[in-house]
Amino acid sequence: MPAAQQPEWPDREALAEAVAELGLAPSLVLPEECDTLRDRLATVARGEAVVLQGGDCAETFDGAREEQIDAKFRTLNQMAAVVAEAAVMPVVTIGRMAGQYAKPRSHAHETRDGVTLPAYRGDLVNASAFTPESRTPQPGRLARAHRVSATTLNLLRALAAHSRTEFWTSHEALVLEYEHALTRGTPSGPYNLSAHTVWVGERTRRPGDAHIDYVARIRNPIAVKVGPTTTPDDALALVDRLDPEREPGRLTFVARMGADAVRDVLPDLVAKVTAAGSPVVWVCDPMHGNTFLADGGFKTRRLDVIVDELRGFFEVHRALGTHPGGVHTELTGDQVTECLGGTYPVTPADLPTRYETACDPRLNRGQSLDLARALADLYAE
Ligand code: PEP
Ligand code: MN
Repeated sequence: MPAAQQPEWPDREALAEAVAELGLAPSLVLPEECDTLRDRLATVARGEAVVLQGGDCAETFDGAREEQIDAKFRTLNQMAAVVAEAAVMPVVTIGRMAGQYAKPRSHAHETRDGVTLPAYRGDLVNASAFTPESRTPQPGRLARAHRVSATTLNLLRALAAHSRTEFWTSHEALVLEYEHALTRGTPSGPYNLSAHTVWVGERTRRPGDAHIDYVARIRNPIAVKVGPTTTPDDALALVDRLDPEREPGRLTFVARMGADAVRDVLPDLVAKVTAAGSPVVWVCDPMHGNTFLADGGFKTRRLDVIVDELRGFFEVHRALGTHPGGVHTELTGDQVTECLGGTYPVTPADLPTRYETACDPRLNRGQSLDLARALADLYAE
């Protein structure tokens, strides 16, 4: 089966050793926890709760610091409180955390000043510095990703227990060696025990792709990103493949259409999936369809455009009488300058000040709370 977006590991023997080591490593979550998250997502499917999912585009090993983890956790929980009050519904809070170390890339290589090297694919695979050594995929990074996930999750569990809140982890299931090695058989079937839930990205969601085959086999709640080229038939094929039993909470579609396309493309998808009797959860990722290059080469996004996509997502669901299930966003608890706008606005001139992301631009703490207030207003309408 074709597996897109996989690293070209130079040393297959070292890879096999790394995978064998990972296969013996303790799992990070329990199958029962994954089942509980599926129950929570089932309440979203029924229109009785809301999903708030967020975190870095790409976590880094160096970024697994107490203050940064704590700030992201607090930001997500403050956002959840704002939304829960306005929506008068519980919020299911899911971090893109403790495992979001692999990135799909539009180009397998990058060229600078006539030198071409493999693209940076996330700390799970290689390092971002533009040198041949850094960019060579290193199998030892698989075990390191597991260890850094474990230390991150350890702090998240302590924070959640102390503030008596539920907090779930997620990442994109991308590098199949890693995901397979942390998939464990249980009496109720195989689970990916590296996160409570995983998603398949826009670039790897074709029904014949190895990634779809993989998530079809695991029992975790799963999600698939659906972009503006998704047809109703594509969506129905995914539903039949990934949720043949029509089990509420099993499958989430994360619509990432772009503010320009959401009002045109989404209605048909939602209408046909609903007519097919699928209880899929619909979540809006208002980030990935709205990225552009600013002067100076900074990849960025505008908060007003992000909010406009969210508004379009709500308009579509309100018109169809379906539930706008929540938001999937890229954010950090730090005051970075990566996205434009906000109550304390980041201007194009500010972008170089604190542009720290390892991949896509994230909302800073203030912008994240702005987004939460916009979401709250939409639920309160
Ligand atoms: C992402 O979530 O960082 C990502 C790459 O998204 P998508 O698959 O929707 O492009
Ligand atoms: Mn991203």
